[in-house]
Amino acid sequence: MKKVSILLVDPENSHRDYLTMVLNSQGFEVFSVAGADKALNHLTNLVPDLIILDEAVNGLTPDDLSRVLQARNLDSFFIVMCRRSDLDKSMSWIMAGALACLHKPIQFDKLTQAIETGLENKEAFHEILKLTYDLKAANSELKKNQELLVKEQAALNDKTKQVRFLYQLSTDLSSTLQSQAIFDLISAALTWLIKPNLSIIISDFASQGRVRLYANRRLSPELVRRLADDLMPQLNKEQASRAIDRRFTKTLKPDRQLTRCPSHRIVLPLVVAGDKYGLLVLYFYKEPEVDIDRMLLLESVALQAAQALRNAHQHEVAVQMATRDPLTGLFNRRAFEENLQREFKRVTRYRRPMSLLMIDLDHFKSVNDRFGHQIGDEVLKTVAGVISKCTREVDFPARFGGEEFAVILPDTSQEKALLLAERIREKMKQTRLPVSENPLKLTISQGLAASNIPLVRQASDLVSLADRALYQAKEDGRNTIRTTQDLNINSRIKEASYA
Ligand code: GH3
Ligand code: MG
Ligand code: MG
Repeated sequence: MKKVSILLVDPENSHRDYLTMVLNSQGFEVFSVAGADKALNHLTNLVPDLIILDEAVNGLTPDDLSRVLQARNLDSFFIVMCRRSDLDKSMSWIMAGALACLHKPIQFDKLTQAIETGLENKEAFHEILKLTYDLKAANSELKKNQELLVKEQAALNDKTKQVRFLYQLSTDLSSTLQSQAIFDLISAALTWLIKPNLSIIISDFASQGRVRLYANRRLSPELVRRLADDLMPQLNKEQASRAIDRRFTKTLKPDRQLTRCPSHRIVLPLVVAGDKYGLLVLYFYKEPEVDIDRMLLLESVALQAAQALRNAHQHEVAVQMATRDPLTGLFNRRAFEENLQREFKRVTRYRRPMSLLMIDLDHFKSVNDRFGHQIGDEVLKTVAGVISKCTREVDFPARFGGEEFAVILPDTSQEKALLLAERIREKMKQTRLPVSENPLKLTISQGLAASNIPLVRQASDLVSLADRALYQAKEDGRNTIRTTQDLNINSRIKEASYA
């Protein structure tokens, strides 16, 4: 064990020698000096456990010593030896840090007791110091852990937000089967997520060479072509620009037409069940910061977009099959009946006009007889095309049956409907039919009924009246148009209608 070291500062030689001898005999290591200089010199080199100081050392009063210990931060305690009893003085030294004040000549038992107490105090002090350090270290560890916890909490919050975002998107997407609405939802979600300057979806669910290009900005036709040329090869599509379905390149909000794409982009494939159906492409003016989390989110959005768009497409196909005539592409008889009822109710409620046009090919049987049924089919398609081209978007052209067509004309008076009928007749005249080298003249007869006459009490009355007008047109020599006013049998119809 290390010896306890003592610096003894005592100008009285005999007393100093006596004390040194006694302390040595007790196993203490003693450095004894007579004056201040030697004492201070000793303290610069060594740090004794204890200093025993005579109160009357020139240049080193107990107060001086206390200051030196504090200034040098020395781990020593000191005992003052007093020449005479002075309680005030003793108290002031104790206050300055002295462990005890003992009278000269020193009684040895009092000295050893003071030394023991001092050493015990010192040990206790060190113990406390160590505890304080440990506590500080534990505190800083705790603080670090707290910071870590805060960071983890923030990351968790982020994750929760991301999960909510994906949940909200999938909920929104499941509420619609309209491809344009789906794109709008995806585009809004992407704006929230990463703020692209332009979002594009190019999709080919139909696999019929008609590719759709959705964009959240208005694009110049030239840019649409360039985009298609650029992106189509990634979809394994050739002849890009011709295959684009332009209907989907418009946006809801009119904004400045974009003529060039921003330079940075992120391309995400639209994949359903392992098949690539399209691309989601995000363009940025500045390179976007995309960490792994954000990338995973973008991929999830692309996945949801692909699934939702394919569902929408399948729905479109199903609706198409249920409502369209497969030969001509016009609405079928069932869709016609439904639409007629719906429109009739609407115009009756809002007191709007409505007309129905029935169209029948003249002597069509002879076309079949002369050129065959297949050519007959082609002729029917051509006529359907003529009717489609002449009608507005709100009109409802349908194949009524065989070589007979019907067009529902909402919000259309008989006068205006007549103009349309005439236009169709005129267009038929100019249309070259796909039958032979020699031009074939095929005419049509048309019957027209408007809803604003008393004879029309329900939707089916429109059909029977238009049909009668058509019959009248046939009777009057074909290639002509007849309305209910042309019927000489108004009274008979009236009777029949009220029967
Ligand atoms: P009209 O001027 O009196 O109307 O004479 P039409 O020959 O046009 O009338 P008719 O009712 O005698 O004959 C209609 C023909 O239309 C008979 C039928 O074979 C033909 N037809 C009906 N549906 C189709 C079809 O889907 N394809 C083809 N190629 N022919 C059809
Ligand atoms: Mg006919
Ligand atoms: Mg017919």
